Amino acid sequence: MNALNLRYVHLKREAIMSIEIKQLHKQFGDFVAVDTMNLSLKAGELTALLGPSGSGKTTLLRMIAGLEQPDQGRIYFDGHDVTDLHVSQRGVGFVFQHYALFKHMSVYDNVAYGLTVKPRSQRPSKAQIRKKVMELLEMVQLEWTADRLPSQLSGGQRQRIALARALAVEPKVLLLDEPFGALDAKVRAELRRWLRQLHDEIHVSSVFVTHDQEEALEVSDRVVVMNSGRVEQDDSPERVYDQPANPFVYHFLGQVNVFKASVHNGVARMGAMRWATPEYEGVSEQEAVAYVRPHDLDVLNTPTEDAVLARIEYVSVVGPTVRLVLRTDSSDQVVQAEMSKHRFQELGLEQGNDAWLRALRSRVFLREIEEAMA
Ligand code: ATP
Repeated sequence: MNALNLRYVHLKREAIMSIEIKQLHKQFGDFVAVDTMNLSLKAGELTALLGPSGSGKTTLLRMIAGLEQPDQGRIYFDGHDVTDLHVSQRGVGFVFQHYALFKHMSVYDNVAYGLTVKPRSQRPSKAQIRKKVMELLEMVQLEWTADRLPSQLSGGQRQRIALARALAVEPKVLLLDEPFGALDAKVRAELRRWLRQLHDEIHVSSVFVTHDQEEALEVSDRVVVMNSGRVEQDDSPERVYDQPANPFVYHFLGQVNVFKASVHNGVARMGAMRWATPEYEGVSEQEAVAYVRPHDLDVLNTPTEDAVLARIEYVSVVGPTVRLVLRTDSSDQVVQAEMSKHRFQELGLEQGNDAWLRALRSRVFLREIEEAMA
């Protein structure tokens, strides 16, 4: 896929909007889909709503769009209350997986649709519509598909057309629900980079729903991790990955080893491993749980006084990365470690060998916090 062609696109830069969610609540019968949520999204940001299936992401997005009415709470665009505005008055564009293109309309008519249904007083002339549609098709590099039907396009091409259609009405807010969900991994990765580039160029405030952590971390400025209709963490992609707010976020974002540990006066211990935990200064002898990402485990081929003994049970090489499954000697726990192939070759280790593990970085939660969050 080539770079985006944005030379012809004249989307209004002043159109960017902040989005404020206040005490938003939605139930379906007794089931709480969105639980009294507060959220504040800055103008021009690309925000990912990330969470497991059923966590309320789509319901939240639909309420922002005006496709679903909240039971309580308000939604503001740039300080203006839009909660009672109809979807057609909110100035949102959406690309939803289930809002497929109109099958019986050509690609051209699909992209033109939002402009042709505007009230007569706001509707551009036929010539203006043609100019705009062709600019957008050129932007998504599919101008040659104008006369085709959606069924004659690939899945990735259809999603690019859906995006062009959403942008035709110059939305203030762009909402995307798993826009690349149905596509294969390679096309998905390409479209992701492409969405990021598009966002950087046109600066519309965008919110997209995904349950794919890699997609959220790679594309967005901001990640809102959701669980059971609530926000677990609202932060930069780096921080949600490196400094998860709680055990749920740790588990949800990537592989993690969970060790039983203890905390005493600012130091956590797991066997011979030790970490400074200044946040627990003054806490004496409490059970704790330590979270260590596989790449934050240092694997050694000789013992050190702060490392624990483990046996290498399985080695898998995935491109430039080596993943190890080890079993600790003292606690018989299965542990995952990850390192570069280069580093693994330097160590000269292989399956069946003994190795020593040391945590380079970890996050420690007291047992009672972990249990409360589970
Ligand atoms: P997914 O990733 O699977 O799309 P999600 O995080 O987007 O999940 P929602 O689609 O917002 O979650 O759904 C949240 C919960 O609300 C789900 O348990 C769902 O079954 C329920 N729900 C959503 N819409 C309705 C509805 N119209 N009627 C009844 N229950 C609904």
